[in-house]
Amino acid sequence: MEALSVCVVGAGMAGLSALKNSLQSNLNATCFEQSTHLGGTWFYQEEQDVAFGENVHSSMYRDLRTNLPKEIMGYLDFTYSKQSKESFISSDEVLKFLNSYADHFHLRDHIKFQHKVLRIRPYKNKWEVLVSHNISHRCKQHLFDRVFVCNGHYTKPQYPKTVGMSCYKGIQMHSHLYRTQDKFKAQKVLIIGAGPSGIDLTNHISKVANCVYLSHHLSKKPNTDFMRNVIQKPNVKQFIETGAIFEDNSSEEFDIVVYCTGYQYSFPFLSSECGIFVHNNHVQPLYKHCININYPTMAIIGLPYAVIPSQVFDLQVRFSLKFFKNELKLPSREDMLTEMEKDNEERQKDGLRERDAHRMGAKQVSK
Ligand SMILES: Cc1cc2nc3c(=O)[nH]c(=O)nc-3n(C[C@H](O)[C@H](O)[C@H](O)COP(=O)(O)OP(=O)(O)OC[C@H]3O[C@@H](n4cnc5c(N)ncnc54)[C@H](O)[C@@H]3O)c2cc1C
Repeated sequence: MEALSVCVVGAGMAGLSALKNSLQSNLNATCFEQSTHLGGTWFYQEEQDVAFGENVHSSMYRDLRTNLPKEIMGYLDFTYSKQSKESFISSDEVLKFLNSYADHFHLRDHIKFQHKVLRIRPYKNKWEVLVSHNISHRCKQHLFDRVFVCNGHYTKPQYPKTVGMSCYKGIQMHSHLYRTQDKFKAQKVLIIGAGPSGIDLTNHISKVANCVYLSHHLSKKPNTDFMRNVIQKPNVKQFIETGAIFEDNSSEEFDIVVYCTGYQYSFPFLSSECGIFVHNNHVQPLYKHCININYPTMAIIGLPYAVIPSQVFDLQVRFSLKFFKNELKLPSREDMLTEMEKDNEERQKDGLRERDAHRMGAKQVSK
């Protein structure tokens, strides 16, 4: 019998695992990667014109150190070398690791670089995948039995809807396009959001800025020793031409605002016929946050956050493959939908908002 064909969209941390595990399962796998390189997020690119921000895939910045130790950032069957004593490593070292993973498992021959997936739709029990070649601009139609969607989820910025944003006359930017501290020298800066990016950029920028206002709504102040020029503020109530008024009615003036307000899940290449929709950052309907309940021959890898990404992605891939290869049988559609609803209800009870539907935290280790 002919091996099942598998399409993998994207050659980042998730796509490489999908490709490697599919090949090891003797499936006929092809990965389409729109750029010239593998590694996705971990490929650092210099600052580009803000106007072109939407075409920039990676949010990586210079001098980033991982916020997880390398000892847990490997895959289940391929880990970081123990030679280096450092645990919190640079993006270059993560990229090197992903390249060595691809080399070790001979993945490159199965990756079509500079091939952008434009559209995926169900077609006669298969998936029709329309792919454009970046150089020749030729489009080709391919048919696959199974699809792994691994396009990454830190590319489309999420902005707050704050009164007066368009009145503010200074520079406004999203952390997606932050690359270096250079333009912040001796500036007064407002950073909005105290998630991992907000805290990290506050630490980077405050080294060169005149002062940094960090606006957030955390009930407890972040457990970090900020520089003395960092002043914490509540949410912005309203922007004015030169600055902002905060919820405690204090006001400040500043030159640049950096929105560290997260990202939106986006699948511009999935046609509506795929049966996947995103509502308030909840991608649905999915079984166990990855298998498309409407078409279980498609899995989306990499949605969960507040997780150990490489290990969770690897597990999602291996789990999906069990069903892709018909080694395990999925519950009925109704049962999968019921389980998804139950998960949502539990999250609501735990006080999470709909937009936190894929936040895992302690849930990443539950069954
Ligand atoms: C600033 C920052 C810091 C982080 N720090 C850490 C950390 O310290 N530790 C950690 O474990 N994780 C960290 N992460 C999370 C990180 O995103 C994940 O570790 C992981 O890299 C995500 O991999 P991915 O494959 O899902 O997505 P990506 O790495 O984004 O890869 C997706 C790939 O898909 C390709 N693609 C997209 N659309 C198409 C298309 N239509 N056709 C063809 N190809 C396409 C892209 O070009 C890209 O190569 C960080 C993320 C960010 C943004």
